[in-house]
Amino acid sequence: MNIFKRGLDRRTQPVEKDNRMSNDWQFRVKFNVGVPEKFVLETDYLERLFEKACDIIDTHSYSLRLTIEVVPKKRKAGYDHPARTITISAKNYKAGTLAHEFGHAIICHVFVVPPSETLQEIICGYIDHQITKKGF
Ligand SMILES: [Zn+2]
Repeated sequence: MNIFKRGLDRRTQPVEKDNRMSNDWQFRVKFNVGVPEKFVLETDYLERLFEKACDIIDTHSYSLRLTIEVVPKKRKAGYDHPARTITISAKNYKAGTLAHEFGHAIICHVFVVPPSETLQEIICGYIDHQITKKGF
C-alpha cells in the first residue's frame, strides 16, 4: 500500500451558518508517496474552498463525502464519481483546479441525472475562473 494519510480524517462538525442547513460533509485526503511534506490541505481550507464553489454556482450540497487523492507528479486533475474521489497533483496544484473538481462532485451529487460532460465543463470552468480571478 503506497498511500498514507496525514491527519485530515476527522469528520467536520455541523456548523450553523446563515439560514442554511448545517453542513455535513467530510473530506478525506490521501497523500501518495512522493508528495512533499510541506504540501498540506487543511480541513478548514478545504471547507472554505468547497463552500465557495457551492456559492459560485448557487448549488449547495450538505451530505457529500469526498476523498481527495494527491499525487506528486504533474497530472491532469479529475473526479471519479462512483469512487467519490478527486485526484489532484501537488506539483501543479491550484485552488481553481480543485474548485473545478469540487464542481463536478457537487453537480454529480445534486443532480439525479448529471448534465453532459460538455455542460459540466462549462459550469466547472466558470467556478475555476471565478476562484482564479478573485483569488483564494
Ligand atoms: Zn472538468
